Amino acid sequence: MPELPEIAILAKQMTKQLKGKRIADVKVTQPKCLNISARKFQRIVGKTINDTAAKGKWLFTNLHPDILLINLGMGGDLIYHKNEATIPQKYQLRILFKDESALTISFFWFGYVHLVPEKDLPKHGITSKLGIPALDKELTAERFAKMLSSRRGAVKTFLLNQANISGIGNVYVQDPLFKAKIHPLRLIPTLTKPEMQALHRSIREVLNQSVAFGGLRYERNLYGRNGSYGPEHFLVAYKTGKPCPVCRTRIAKIRTGSTASYICPHCQNL
Ligand SMILES: [Zn+2]
Repeated sequence: MPELPEIAILAKQMTKQLKGKRIADVKVTQPKCLNISARKFQRIVGKTINDTAAKGKWLFTNLHPDILLINLGMGGDLIYHKNEATIPQKYQLRILFKDESALTISFFWFGYVHLVPEKDLPKHGITSKLGIPALDKELTAERFAKMLSSRRGAVKTFLLNQANISGIGNVYVQDPLFKAKIHPLRLIPTLTKPEMQALHRSIREVLNQSVAFGGLRYERNLYGRNGSYGPEHFLVAYKTGKPCPVCRTRIAKIRTGSTASYICPHCQNL
Protein backbone atom coordinates (compact mmCIF):
# COMPACT_ATOMS: atom_id res chain seq x y z
CA MET A 1 0.00 0.00 0.00
CA PRO A 2 1.50 3.40 -0.90
CA GLU A 3 2.29 5.58 2.10
CA LEU A 4 3.66 9.09 2.36
CA PRO A 5 7.02 8.64 0.52
CA GLU A 6 5.37 7.04 -2.53
CA ILE A 7 2.56 9.62 -2.67
CA ALA A 8 5.01 12.52 -2.20
CA ILE A 9 7.13 11.20 -5.09
CA LEU A 10 4.06 10.85 -7.35
CA ALA A 11 2.93 14.40 -6.50
CA LYS A 12 6.33 15.81 -7.38
CA GLN A 13 6.52 13.89 -10.65
CA MET A 14 2.96 14.84 -11.59
CA THR A 15 3.64 18.53 -11.04
CA LYS A 16 6.78 18.35 -13.16
CA GLN A 17 5.33 16.23 -15.97
CA LEU A 18 1.68 17.28 -16.20
CA LYS A 19 1.58 20.96 -15.28
CA GLY A 20 0.29 22.99 -18.22
CA LYS A 21 -1.22 20.03 -20.11
CA ARG A 22 -4.75 20.46 -21.41
CA ILE A 23 -7.27 17.64 -21.03
CA ALA A 24 -8.72 16.51 -24.37
CA ASP A 25 -10.67 13.40 -23.38
CA VAL A 26 -11.63 11.37 -20.31
CA LYS A 27 -12.79 7.78 -20.05
CA VAL A 28 -13.96 6.19 -16.79
CA THR A 29 -14.50 2.41 -16.79
CA GLN A 30 -15.29 2.18 -13.05
CA PRO A 31 -17.77 5.00 -12.30
CA LYS A 32 -18.07 3.73 -8.70
CA CYS A 33 -14.67 5.25 -7.90
CA LEU A 34 -16.09 8.73 -8.61
CA ASN A 35 -17.98 10.97 -6.18
CA ILE A 36 -20.15 12.35 -9.00
CA SER A 37 -21.67 10.83 -12.14
CA ALA A 38 -19.34 9.94 -15.03
CA ARG A 39 -21.27 12.48 -17.11
CA LYS A 40 -20.64 15.30 -14.64
CA PHE A 41 -17.00 14.22 -14.37
CA GLN A 42 -16.63 15.13 -18.06
CA ARG A 43 -16.42 18.78 -16.99
CA ILE A 44 -12.65 18.33 -16.61
CA VAL A 45 -12.33 18.14 -20.42
CA GLY A 46 -10.75 21.38 -21.66
CA LYS A 47 -9.20 22.14 -18.24
CA THR A 48 -5.47 22.70 -17.76
CA ILE A 49 -3.56 20.73 -15.14
CA ASN A 50 -1.82 22.72 -12.46
CA ASP A 51 0.25 21.66 -9.42
CA THR A 52 -0.26 18.38 -7.56
CA ALA A 53 0.20 18.16 -3.78
CA ALA A 54 0.20 15.17 -1.42
CA LYS A 55 -1.68 14.86 1.85
CA GLY A 56 -1.88 11.53 3.63
CA LYS A 57 -2.55 8.92 0.97
CA TRP A 58 -4.33 11.45 -1.26
CA LEU A 59 -3.09 13.38 -4.29
CA PHE A 60 -4.59 16.83 -4.84
CA THR A 61 -4.31 17.99 -8.46
CA ASN A 62 -5.41 21.55 -9.13
CA LEU A 63 -7.73 21.82 -12.16
CA HIS A 64 -8.96 25.26 -11.28
CA PRO A 65 -11.72 25.79 -10.16
CA ASP A 66 -11.90 22.08 -9.24
CA ILE A 67 -9.49 19.87 -7.33
CA LEU A 68 -9.00 16.30 -8.56
CA LEU A 69 -8.52 14.02 -5.54
CA ILE A 70 -6.92 10.62 -6.15
CA ASN A 71 -6.46 7.80 -3.62
CA LEU A 72 -4.84 4.61 -4.93
CA GLY A 73 -6.29 2.57 -2.06
CA MET A 74 -4.48 -0.72 -1.43
CA GLY A 75 -2.13 0.05 -4.30
CA GLY A 76 -2.50 0.49 -8.00
CA ASP A 77 -0.75 2.36 -10.72
CA LEU A 78 -0.97 5.95 -11.81
CA ILE A 79 1.08 6.03 -14.99
CA TYR A 80 2.06 8.67 -17.52
CA HIS A 81 2.24 7.75 -21.21
CA LYS A 82 4.13 9.77 -23.81
CA ASN A 83 1.60 8.58 -26.39
CA GLU A 84 -1.27 6.12 -26.71
CA ALA A 85 1.04 3.19 -27.57
CA THR A 86 1.75 2.24 -23.93
CA ILE A 87 -1.79 2.62 -22.55
CA PRO A 88 -2.72 -0.68 -20.82
CA GLN A 89 -5.82 -2.63 -21.85
CA LYS A 90 -7.30 -2.47 -18.35
CA TYR A 91 -7.66 0.76 -16.42
CA GLN A 92 -10.29 2.51 -14.32
CA LEU A 93 -9.61 5.97 -15.65
CA ARG A 94 -7.80 7.38 -18.66
CA ILE A 95 -7.11 11.00 -19.41
CA LEU A 96 -5.88 12.03 -22.86
CA PHE A 97 -4.11 15.36 -23.23
CA LYS A 98 -4.15 17.73 -26.21
CA ASP A 99 -0.49 16.88 -26.92
CA GLU A 100 -1.47 13.16 -27.26
CA SER A 101 0.20 12.11 -24.03
CA ALA A 102 -2.00 10.36 -21.46
CA LEU A 103 -2.49 9.40 -17.83
CA THR A 104 -4.04 6.11 -16.67
CA ILE A 105 -5.14 4.97 -13.22
CA SER A 106 -5.46 1.23 -12.53
CA PHE A 107 -6.46 0.09 -9.04
CA PHE A 108 -5.46 -3.32 -7.70
CA TRP A 109 -8.52 -3.43 -5.52
CA PHE A 110 -10.40 -0.18 -5.14
CA GLY A 111 -9.51 3.50 -5.07
CA TYR A 112 -11.08 6.90 -5.35
CA VAL A 113 -11.10 9.65 -7.95
CA HIS A 114 -13.10 12.58 -6.63
CA LEU A 115 -13.75 15.95 -8.23
CA VAL A 116 -14.49 18.74 -5.77
CA PRO A 117 -14.70 22.52 -6.31
CA GLU A 118 -11.78 24.07 -4.43
CA LYS A 119 -14.13 26.14 -2.25
CA ASP A 120 -15.92 22.94 -1.15
CA LEU A 121 -12.74 21.09 -0.07
CA PRO A 122 -13.41 21.76 3.65
CA LYS A 123 -16.67 19.83 3.18
CA HIS A 124 -14.98 16.79 1.57
CA GLY A 125 -15.51 14.19 4.29
CA ILE A 126 -12.34 12.09 4.11
CA THR A 127 -9.63 14.58 3.16
CA SER A 128 -10.84 17.39 5.42
CA LYS A 129 -10.22 15.16 8.46
CA LEU A 130 -6.59 14.43 7.57
CA GLY A 131 -3.97 15.59 10.04
CA ILE A 132 -0.73 17.38 9.23
CA PRO A 133 1.46 15.41 6.75
CA ALA A 134 4.30 13.63 8.54
CA LEU A 135 7.02 15.44 6.55
CA ASP A 136 5.39 18.88 6.69
CA LYS A 137 7.92 21.51 7.84
CA GLU A 138 5.32 22.83 10.28
CA LEU A 139 5.33 19.54 12.16
CA THR A 140 8.22 20.56 14.40
CA ALA A 141 9.44 18.56 17.40
CA GLU A 142 7.67 21.09 19.64
CA ARG A 143 4.35 20.76 17.83
CA PHE A 144 4.68 16.95 17.83
CA ALA A 145 5.30 16.94 21.60
CA LYS A 146 2.37 19.29 22.13
CA MET A 147 0.05 17.02 20.14
CA LEU A 148 1.15 14.04 22.24
CA SER A 149 0.75 15.90 25.54
CA SER A 150 -3.05 15.79 25.35
CA ARG A 151 -3.28 12.07 24.46
CA ARG A 152 -3.61 8.95 26.56
CA GLY A 153 -3.52 5.84 24.31
CA ALA A 154 -0.73 3.72 22.83
CA VAL A 155 1.86 5.59 20.78
CA LYS A 156 1.53 3.36 17.68
CA THR A 157 -2.23 3.88 17.54
CA PHE A 158 -1.66 7.63 17.64
CA LEU A 159 0.86 7.49 14.77
CA LEU A 160 -1.39 5.39 12.54
CA ASN A 161 -4.45 7.58 13.07
CA GLN A 162 -4.54 9.74 9.92
CA ALA A 163 -6.49 12.44 11.74
CA ASN A 164 -3.41 13.12 13.94
CA ILE A 165 -0.57 12.91 11.43
CA SER A 166 -1.21 11.79 7.87
CA GLY A 167 0.88 9.50 5.70
CA ILE A 168 2.31 6.93 8.13
CA GLY A 169 0.96 3.40 7.68
CA ASN A 170 1.98 0.04 9.10
CA VAL A 171 5.11 -0.23 6.90
CA TYR A 172 6.72 3.06 7.91
CA VAL A 173 5.64 3.07 11.57
CA GLN A 174 7.92 0.17 12.57
CA ASP A 175 11.48 1.48 12.15
CA PRO A 176 10.92 4.96 13.68
CA LEU A 177 9.64 3.32 16.90
CA PHE A 178 12.68 1.00 16.91
CA LYS A 179 15.14 3.86 16.29
CA ALA A 180 13.59 5.83 19.15
CA LYS A 181 13.67 2.65 21.34
CA ILE A 182 9.93 2.89 22.02
CA HIS A 183 7.61 -0.13 22.28
CA PRO A 184 4.52 0.34 20.05
CA LEU A 185 2.20 -0.24 23.02
CA ARG A 186 3.85 2.40 25.24
CA LEU A 187 1.19 4.69 26.64
CA ILE A 188 1.72 8.27 25.51
CA PRO A 189 1.70 9.83 29.04
CA THR A 190 4.75 7.65 29.93
CA LEU A 191 6.90 9.08 27.10
CA THR A 192 9.70 11.41 28.15
CA LYS A 193 10.53 14.62 26.29
CA PRO A 194 13.78 13.10 24.84
CA GLU A 195 11.79 10.05 23.66
CA MET A 196 9.26 12.28 21.89
CA GLN A 197 12.11 14.20 20.24
CA ALA A 198 13.81 10.95 19.20
CA LEU A 199 10.55 9.65 17.73
CA HIS A 200 9.94 12.87 15.79
CA ARG A 201 13.49 12.77 14.40
CA SER A 202 13.26 9.05 13.54
CA ILE A 203 9.99 9.47 11.62
CA ARG A 204 11.60 12.13 9.43
CA GLU A 205 14.78 10.09 8.94
CA VAL A 206 12.95 6.93 7.85
CA LEU A 207 10.48 8.70 5.54
CA ASN A 208 13.17 10.91 3.98
CA GLN A 209 15.41 7.90 3.42
CA SER A 210 12.62 6.14 1.53
CA VAL A 211 11.95 9.25 -0.59
CA ALA A 212 15.69 9.37 -1.41
CA PHE A 213 15.49 5.76 -2.61
CA GLY A 214 12.42 6.48 -4.78
CA GLY A 215 9.91 4.85 -2.41
CA LEU A 216 9.12 1.21 -1.81
CA ARG A 217 10.41 -1.38 -4.25
CA TYR A 218 6.99 -2.93 -4.82
CA GLU A 219 5.30 0.39 -5.66
CA ARG A 220 5.54 2.08 -9.06
CA ASN A 221 6.08 5.73 -9.82
CA LEU A 222 4.52 7.92 -12.54
CA TYR A 223 6.81 6.33 -15.14
CA GLY A 224 5.97 2.76 -14.12
CA ARG A 225 9.33 2.29 -12.45
CA ASN A 226 9.67 0.68 -9.03
CA GLY A 227 11.30 2.42 -6.09
CA SER A 228 14.44 0.91 -4.56
CA TYR A 229 13.63 1.13 -0.84
CA GLY A 230 13.47 -2.51 0.20
CA PRO A 231 13.97 -5.00 3.05
CA GLU A 232 17.75 -4.41 3.13
CA HIS A 233 16.99 -0.84 4.27
CA PHE A 234 14.49 -1.90 6.95
CA LEU A 235 15.80 -2.17 10.52
CA VAL A 236 13.16 -4.35 12.17
CA ALA A 237 10.11 -4.10 9.89
CA TYR A 238 9.17 -7.54 8.48
CA LYS A 239 12.40 -9.05 9.92
CA THR A 240 10.91 -11.63 12.30
CA GLY A 241 13.66 -13.88 13.74
CA LYS A 242 16.54 -11.81 12.31
CA PRO A 243 19.07 -10.26 14.73
CA CYS A 244 18.45 -6.71 15.99
CA PRO A 245 20.96 -4.39 14.22
CA VAL A 246 21.88 -2.89 17.61
CA CYS A 247 21.96 -5.76 20.17
CA ARG A 248 21.54 -8.95 18.09
CA THR A 249 18.41 -10.06 20.01
CA ARG A 250 15.97 -11.81 17.66
CA ILE A 251 13.31 -9.50 16.22
CA ALA A 252 9.78 -10.47 17.27
CA LYS A 253 6.48 -10.08 15.48
CA ILE A 254 3.70 -9.18 17.90
CA ARG A 255 0.02 -8.28 17.61
CA THR A 256 -0.78 -4.70 18.57
CA GLY A 257 -4.50 -4.16 18.29
CA SER A 258 -5.54 -4.86 14.71
CA THR A 259 -2.00 -4.57 13.29
CA ALA A 260 1.26 -6.50 13.48
CA SER A 261 4.35 -4.92 14.97
CA TYR A 262 8.01 -5.85 14.56
CA ILE A 263 10.16 -5.06 17.57
CA CYS A 264 13.44 -5.82 19.29
CA PRO A 265 12.20 -7.10 22.68
CA HIS A 266 15.43 -5.87 24.28
CA CYS A 267 15.76 -2.37 22.76
CA GLN A 268 12.01 -1.67 22.86
CA ASN A 269 11.22 -2.75 26.37
CA LEU A 270 7.63 -2.15 27.50
ZN1 LIG B 1 17.94 -4.66 20.08
